[in-house]
Amino acid sequence: MELYEIESNGKKYEFNIVKNSTEPCPECGVPACGKEDILWFEEGNKRKAIIFDGGLFDLAGEEFFKKNIKSIEYDPLPKFMKEWNEKTGWEDCWNYDGYEIGINDFLKSLELLKTCEMGKWITEEDIADMENLATEAREKGKKLKIVRG
Ligand SMILES: [Zn+2]
Repeated sequence: MELYEIESNGKKYEFNIVKNSTEPCPECGVPACGKEDILWFEEGNKRKAIIFDGGLFDLAGEEFFKKNIKSIEYDPLPKFMKEWNEKTGWEDCWNYDGYEIGINDFLKSLELLKTCEMGKWITEEDIADMENLATEAREKGKKLKIVRG
């Protein structure tokens, strides 16, 4: 586990990173061009977290809506998907206190995103890591949170 410290608006945030799938950008050298999303739950004073390229959800979401716009019913979609599409909620959370997402809702969203050509955007391993973290949070009765980086 790697400790990741962020200082934002005079506040210090510590994350225990169990997985970081971002890679340095071949052009600018910064991991995920600085677009690092963090998913976590809090246990005691520790935040058990995964860091991933925020561009992944953007590309997968874009593909999902483009591909399915004519065939899906919008209303019953998970809130996580609708918030991405509407640029509200978690999609618009840039504060390291994080935004709480519904765990079952999030898991349903991952199922939908799997129907996209995930290989290009999010690997099956990335998805499995997120599912495991979300499921662990649910089992422990913790809140699952996300921040856009
Ligand atoms: Zn870059």
